[in-house]
Amino acid sequence: MASPFDLTGRTALVTGANTGIGQGIALALAQAGATVVAAGRSDLTETLALIAEAGGTARPLKVDLQEQGIAPRVIAQAEALAGPLDILVNNAGIIRRADALDFSESDWDEVINVNLKATFFLAQAFAKSAVAAGRGARIVNIASLLSFQGGIRVASYTASKSGLAGLTKLLACEWAQKGINVNAIAPGYIESNNTEALRADPDRNQAILARIPAGRWGKPSDIGGAAVFLASDAAAYMHGAIIPVDGGWLAR
Ligand code: NAP
Repeated sequence: MASPFDLTGRTALVTGANTGIGQGIALALAQAGATVVAAGRSDLTETLALIAEAGGTARPLKVDLQEQGIAPRVIAQAEALAGPLDILVNNAGIIRRADALDFSESDWDEVINVNLKATFFLAQAFAKSAVAAGRGARIVNIASLLSFQGGIRVASYTASKSGLAGLTKLLACEWAQKGINVNAIAPGYIESNNTEALRADPDRNQAILARIPAGRWGKPSDIGGAAVFLASDAAAYMHGAIIPVDGGWLAR
């Protein structure tokens, strides 16, 4: 009997797949049977090697999501590499840290452009292709605990991830009846480049760890299972959910 979590025969585009959470998700989707287009602005060799070692299939796609108007091209290139896309994981994201009193306009614009604007226009281009072909599809956005909480020193990041939670719900409402499920994962504190500065600060590191019921930082592989679930038939009735995968942080 086929597992409802099986992704054999599906194609997935994962942005920011060269490292961190995107790499963990790309590997998990490939392990579940999907053909993965691993997209990123940096070298994707490590991700391709991990997927090949696991017996999966992946294609690399170089993209810089800061580029104006790039979204339709990214979707077209991904479909040229792997065929019509069934799954989009909007994972690429950046963070800038400064006190709100000193926060610069460029740190605002860059973060909003990648985390919110590129995410929306990728979803739009992906959905246009799926709707035109009458194909059901899945979008998984990578939100954050700062989709629910304020945080400190990350004004544009919190604005982008809170906006992404709203956008996930709006797109879920507009596209559910077109056969597209739009959901998000809100990772907790995960070991990646994004959190390097926090882990390097002994006081912040200790304060964060003390609040995590699981008693440890998360790993990129901790996020993969939720992505497989949301991309699979098992999540057919999921629309507009933002699922925390946070070691219990929000439950505290
Ligand atoms: P990361 O290791 O810094 O990964 C971010 C990824 O996004 C990298 O692949 C990065 O590429 C890519 N990226 C950034 N700007 C891009 C651009 N202009 N064009 C294309 N790709 C771009 O951090 P991460 O923690 O894995 O972050 C992945 C996602 O999870 C982000 O959306 C982040 O906000 C979210 N998140 C992370 C945490 C956490 O605790 N780590 C918690 C909640 C949410 P480069 O390697 O070239 O920079």
